[in-house]
Formats: sequence, structure tokens, C-alpha cells
Amino acid sequence: MIPFLDLNQVNAPYLKAVEEACTRVIRSGWYILGNELKAFENAFAAYCGAEHCVGVANGLDAITLILKAYEFEGGSEVIVPANTYIASVLPVSYLHLKPVFVEPDPYTMLIDPDLIEESITERTKAITAVDLYGRSCEMDAIMQLASKYDLKVITDAAQGHGAIYNSKKAGSIADATAFSFYPTKNLGAFGDAGAVTTNDAELAEKIRNLRNYGSVVRYKNDYQGVNSRLDEMQAAILNVKLPFLDMENKRRREIANRYLTEIKVKELVLPPNDRINEDAWHLFVIRHPRRADLTTYLESKGVQTNVHYPLPIHKQQAYQEFGHLELPITEQIHREVVSLPLNPVLSDDEISYIIHTVNQFDYQT
Ligand SMILES: *Cc1c(COP(=O)(O)O)cnc(C)c1O
Repeated sequence: MIPFLDLNQVNAPYLKAVEEACTRVIRSGWYILGNELKAFENAFAAYCGAEHCVGVANGLDAITLILKAYEFEGGSEVIVPANTYIASVLPVSYLHLKPVFVEPDPYTMLIDPDLIEESITERTKAITAVDLYGRSCEMDAIMQLASKYDLKVITDAAQGHGAIYNSKKAGSIADATAFSFYPTKNLGAFGDAGAVTTNDAELAEKIRNLRNYGSVVRYKNDYQGVNSRLDEMQAAILNVKLPFLDMENKRRREIANRYLTEIKVKELVLPPNDRINEDAWHLFVIRHPRRADLTTYLESKGVQTNVHYPLPIHKQQAYQEFGHLELPITEQIHREVVSLPLNPVLSDDEISYIIHTVNQFDYQT
């Protein structure tokens, strides 16, 4: 069986250095808000080409803290993609703001900039752009709309570490960008971790406050904050792995390139091939109307797949208030998508086998 993702294998090359880093933290006697975090924040800001990075506990908190820092009035509207993971939207409703769902471009499956403008009202305060599957959104168009209507742009780049748009890395384009370092992401910790990047010094300082009870100077609280800190152990692990992110993304791009050129099935919709060496290829998502048959077949041939995601947000029990919405492009995507294995430890032979197996399925019946 070729597993969809085997974290033991993915992390094997780093284990010795990670163990040394963890031992260093354990013996330091300093576990929260220390030098490992400072070093990681500096390194990740530099990696993204952003001026500031603030480490937080996870990707969800990164989005939540950005929105909280902006202090939009309750009931304000935030434009969100209808096709995304639920974590992109939960912070909006959690802060008593209203998510306004916008359909994706069927080609990229990312929020369609042409459909954003008609969703803007006098209550709109922000646009959340999600770099889903590792591809940057159409940021020129989105930033232009934001400046026309005086909106903030937040990017959820939890799947987009290292994605490039117009020579700029994810994390350097929007007003603020949220990252997750959940273990399966392109840059993954050994537990939960996240970060915000921004070029806005005031926003960075406010989020630095908010993540630590609203306090930078001990026992002096400027805001009603939360506890959302990236701990020293995870920061030390991320410091070990960050220098290899570009190498791993390069391997992801090679694999995506092979899939895109060697999978030759006209019935399958493949992901966009116009930015192979810029997209971060967190996932390789193909589409076919007979998804269940295709995944059962692939499984029977020893290729494990996954579905990102099976049920759209507006159809989740958690969001019954949006159950009446009709978002046909999003709904079709959720019915048809299958993610093939794509990770830096796949061998050339495994990739060849996956391609051969995908090409052999009987797509007609
Ligand atoms: C993983 C993910 C998140 C949430 O990150 P956590 O660290 O698990 O909180 C948010 N948005 C997207 C698109 C994700 O893939």
C-alpha cells in the first residue's frame, strides 16, 4: 500500500536534529515565549518576505487573532470562500461576524475574484482568501477590490507555505496571513503550532499582546487576550525543519509536474498547470463524477487516497443557518474531488505506479 501520507517517513530525515533540539529545550528550563520562538519568528518572517511574524498555538487561532485584532463591529460581514476547510470560517462566526460565502473559480477551485465584488455590501469589512491545496489566490484582483472598498485582506495560508504569486511568497501579500504548522502541512511541527505574518507593525504588536492574555509587559494587560502561544519545543522543531521547506516544495513540484504531464485521462479534471513551480502543492486534487468507484479502485490497487473535503461548510450540521444556500460549484467540487498521494518522500517508482494505476481505471462504465 502506498500511504496517503506517512509522517514517520516524512519526519525521518529530521529525527536526530529534532531530538537534539528537544533535549536542548528540555534542559534549558524555559518552555514558553523564549529564544526558540524568537528565532523561528525571525526566520519565518524572512522566509515569507514579511516584516513581522507572531507565533501562535495553531492555524485556527492565527485567523481568529487577526480578526480579533481588527475589532470589527459585531455583525460585520467577512467574505470567505465557500470551498475551503471549516477552520477558515469558524473564527468569523466565533467573533459574531457574518461569513458571506463566495463560489470558487471552477478551474482553480479558489475564491473567484470576479464574484467577490457583487457580494460586497456597506457592512463588509474583510476578505479571507484561502490558498487552498497550496496555490495562492488571485491576489492582484483581490487586493485591488480591497483597496477600492477599503477592506482588509486576510490570507489563510495553512496549506500554502512557500506558495508564490507574482514573485512574492504567501505571507507577504495580504494585510495579514495565517499559517498552520499542523503535522501534515508542508511545514509541520510535532504537535499544534501556527503563526501570523504581516507588514503592519501595529497589528503584529497587538496580536503579540492578544496571544498572551493581552500582555507584553508582565501583569500589565492592554487587551482581553487569550492564551495562544507557540511553545519552545514546537518552535525548536520548526527551526530544524524550516531550512528544508524549499527543498521539500521543490520535490512536491516535481511530483505535481509528473502527475500533470503523465496522467492522460480526458474524463479526469486535473488541477491547474499554469504555475507548477510556484504553487506549493500541499494536495494534488483531481475530480471525477464517479469518485467512490475511483477511490475504491485505487485502494484495491494499493493507492491510498483522501477527500478534501467531502461536505461543504454550508451543508454541515454546525452551520445549519447556511443550509439553504445554493452554491452549486462548491457542491459539485465536494462530490467529485479526490486527493492523490503527494509528499516529499514518494519515490519515483511509487509515482510511476500511481500514474499507471490512475490511467488504467475504466472511466467509461
Ligand atoms: C489546517 C488548516 C487550518 C487550521 O489549522 P490548525 O493548525 O489545525 O488550527 C485552517 N485552514 C486551512 C485551509 C487548513 O488546511
